[in-house]
Amino acid sequence: MKTLVLNASYEPLGVIATRRAIMLVLSGKASTIAQSGAQLHSRSLVLDAPSVVLLNQFIKVPHRRIPLTRKSALERYGHVCAYCGKYGDTLDHVIPRARGGTHTWDNVVVACLLTELTPELVVRSSRSDWGLAA
Ligand SMILES: [Zn+2]
Repeated sequence: MKTLVLNASYEPLGVIATRRAIMLVLSGKASTIAQSGAQLHSRSLVLDAPSVVLLNQFIKVPHRRIPLTRKSALERYGHVCAYCGKYGDTLDHVIPRARGGTHTWDNVVVACLLTELTPELVVRSSRSDWGLAA
């Protein structure tokens, strides 16, 4: 049996074993806000199993860093080419790695095959590529 744990701000934090959730409630760290309808029996008492508990104190959750992989980037951008809006399934570095571009979330976009093969057709070049002053 599993229970959803909400932060005091009602932001979902995760799913834990119902027995652990009951311990949070019994120790005064959380309150039950929805019950599953099931009951847990111990030697001396019967407890309604919570399906959702709310932490009584807000806990600060550090931002989870999502590793930059081909799969995670395609999911993040929904397979949409950043240059033409069509279906894309390759990654492109906005500042090419050869020119010092980093493999980081702020330099990686999704591109379609056409955009990858014919970069001169899309507006992605730096000013110097167009013969303009930088
Ligand atoms: Zn494209």
